[in-house]
Amino acid sequence: MNGYLQINGVTKRFGDFTALEKVDLSVEKGEFVTFLGPSGSGKTTTLMIMAGFEKATHGDVLIEGRSISRLAPHERNIGIVFQNYALFPHKTAAENVYFPLQMRGVGKADGLRRAKEMLDLVGLSGMAERYPKELSGGQQQRVALARALVFEPSLLLLDEPLGALDKNLREQMQIEIKRIQRTLGVTTIFVTHDQSEAMSMSDRIVVFEKGRIEQAATPLDIYHRPKTKFVAGFVGESNLVPAKVSDAAAGVAVSPALGPCDFEPAEGISAGDDLTLLIRPEHIRLSRQPLEGRQNASMLVDTIVNYGDNALVIGRVGDLPMRVRVLGADVVVIREGENCCISWPPEAVFAIPDLPGR
Ligand code: ATP
Repeated sequence: MNGYLQINGVTKRFGDFTALEKVDLSVEKGEFVTFLGPSGSGKTTTLMIMAGFEKATHGDVLIEGRSISRLAPHERNIGIVFQNYALFPHKTAAENVYFPLQMRGVGKADGLRRAKEMLDLVGLSGMAERYPKELSGGQQQRVALARALVFEPSLLLLDEPLGALDKNLREQMQIEIKRIQRTLGVTTIFVTHDQSEAMSMSDRIVVFEKGRIEQAATPLDIYHRPKTKFVAGFVGESNLVPAKVSDAAAGVAVSPALGPCDFEPAEGISAGDDLTLLIRPEHIRLSRQPLEGRQNASMLVDTIVNYGDNALVIGRVGDLPMRVRVLGADVVVIREGENCCISWPPEAVFAIPDLPGR
């Protein structure tokens, strides 16, 4: 299947070091795709290759079926916003936004009019004549966004654009960027290492690790149906339970700590396979007595971290570390140093086959 944007077998080596290994990705027109992954996993390098600031060692990038790999950055019609947005200090907001139009030969009157329309769209009506130093960090970032969008790019690349903003402003800008992206329908790649940002903004999340794509899927699939242990551990909080399949058709695996555990049977899982069972902390309940209709285990509580409306309970079942996220009411039944019952429904258990070398 060929998407609007196509990354085909892109490998990038810096000397002996392989930063990207055969990355393939297909993105639909208008999609908002987030690259998520730890530091050094290859997100920015992939973006730089798309933008034309780095050259792939192998592979190709295509937009609407045409290779852009040989084009210079300014010939690619791509809008880019970085964390340090680098506005021209001696130009007003409107002149900054007009700049890419000026480079494309658009006359001043028409260009400034379009720049002001774009400033309106990013919520900066009335600030067109201000200089960057007269704008807050969030406002400057909006100018940078307007400048990246004003020439109607084929693709918008955002590299940690909210990294420098404080938490509240960051959340506000997440909503704004999503709104603007939807309004314009511009195909967008957003780089972040903040998983909640990726969860809340994306149509699809691409999880990078060590220069490879671990999984590309919707936020809900990434969270509930992670393909690898890495994705399960990196996105959200998780209990990862090593187990061996005893009955593949019925979906039963035996964990040394928890005993036989039911899981949703899935294709490609056979009796005798080693796998990892994922149980999210918020799917586990705490109680004094075992609860009926659920799988139960006894947990020794080591630490309770209170967050007001919820608490994280950290403990052990035998040698197996367990984390349980509980809402206020359940916390009162337990104390640090005591044993309690933990329980979960079978459908809360997701099986992840162990892949060789991962
Ligand atoms: P971060 O979240 O920290 O920005 P990232 O996932 O974007 O990380 P990249 O910047 O793509 O990671 O880097 C991937 C790997 O390639 C890293 O190990 C990095 O050190 C290496 N790398 C990137 N650029 C170069 C370069 N010009 N020369 C040598 N190595 C590089």
